[in-house]
Amino acid sequence: MNGEKNCKTLSAPVFPLIDVKGTVTDFMVWSELSREALGALRDDAAAQLDALRAENLHLDLTRGKPGLAQLDLSSGMLGVITSAEDCISESSLDCRNYGVLDGIPEAKRLFSDLLGIPEERIFIGGNSSLNLMFDTVVRCMLFGVAGGHEPWGRQGRIKFICPSPGYDRHFAICRALGIEMIPVEMTKEGPDMKAVRAHVCTDPSVKGIWCVPKFSNPEGVTYSDRVVEELASLKPAAPDFRIFWDNAYAVHELYDEHVHLADIFAAAEDNGNIDNVFYFASTSKITFPGSGVAIMAASETNLRHIKPILATQTIGFDKINQMRHVKYFGSADGIRAHMRRHADILRPKFETVLSVFERELGGCGIAEWTHPRGGYFISLNTMDDCARRVYKMAKSLGVALTEAGATFPYGCDPRDRNLRIAPSYPELSELETATHVVCQCIRLVSAEALMERA
Ligand code: PLP
Repeated sequence: MNGEKNCKTLSAPVFPLIDVKGTVTDFMVWSELSREALGALRDDAAAQLDALRAENLHLDLTRGKPGLAQLDLSSGMLGVITSAEDCISESSLDCRNYGVLDGIPEAKRLFSDLLGIPEERIFIGGNSSLNLMFDTVVRCMLFGVAGGHEPWGRQGRIKFICPSPGYDRHFAICRALGIEMIPVEMTKEGPDMKAVRAHVCTDPSVKGIWCVPKFSNPEGVTYSDRVVEELASLKPAAPDFRIFWDNAYAVHELYDEHVHLADIFAAAEDNGNIDNVFYFASTSKITFPGSGVAIMAASETNLRHIKPILATQTIGFDKINQMRHVKYFGSADGIRAHMRRHADILRPKFETVLSVFERELGGCGIAEWTHPRGGYFISLNTMDDCARRVYKMAKSLGVALTEAGATFPYGCDPRDRNLRIAPSYPELSELETATHVVCQCIRLVSAEALMERA
């Protein structure tokens, strides 16, 4: 994550407080302003918001959904399977029929090349990696992990480490299954590993950790080599501990560069911990969310344990869709070229949000935000105790944000400051307006909060 993360640093003056004429300007840290000056700023924001209210807006910055132009990039995929012959796999299997639990070979190869995972560790699932993650946790609850351990669900209270802010749906899985969540702070390099170790290495009830290791949701952090190595070399107190490695944004660079993420399997193997890793990914944000292909990857021992259970759950997943993806892309390079086209559409959207933030909030010391190099989100921190008010105010003006608190376990952001902005879905002009509304809400709420504190 770029920029400072600790809101306390926001109170440090960084710009002159008074302009040459001695009047209030925006190039000052608001915490240094007089009540009168803050009142003027509050009134100005309120007037702008009143004008926006009259526009009857219905804008949505909530979920990270691809926009229409992004979906259109994959429309050609709908036409690549036109005959029975198109459904015959290289293994002679007819994809229209039952057969093969873990995916057709050419699809395994495609993901293997794309993600750098040996084919034999991959199984191809259905349309959603979240579904695979949910099923994986449930399987651990009901059947335990490989190695003859007691099912998690019979071990009393169990816990997961939840790097926060993080992905709300990971937290929802824990909540649904009664798994206690331990928030651990995210740093610019990944989860705070000192805190992770303090829990994982001492408490046998800690069974898992959620990781979005590349362009994390919502902060866009890519774990450093050090963090990956430390995760891979953990010596958990629980013998049935697992790392849930949700590499949802593995190939989702926004710029023409490759952002490096260390190979968790290689690092875990070097440390004798290969069985600790459950890896997930999908094409939801490559082709069609909800109609993509999801994968799980795991060690041979883990797969040997998982597959018979999976085989009772399904006879097999959608192989025609696997074939559709293989035929459309041809190779991992085909996917990489396709992702550059996604980036060309997404980049201006991210940059629009960032430029409105800079214009309307820059230098005021009332908010800070990330400058992601990839992924789907911008993470915005308001001053402490302001995010919920901003969320509600934006909602009343017709701008939907992901609910304040959602990026933390139990919906509880201890500092009530984090908001997740998803720029992908709205058109550019809508995005500009929606971000402007959010900024003016932040200006209004911040001015009021500082006046209350003065
Ligand atoms: N994992 C992360 C980190 C996500 O942000 C998302 C969607 O936003 C998902 C998983 C969902 O992926 P899928 O559509 O494959 O279930």
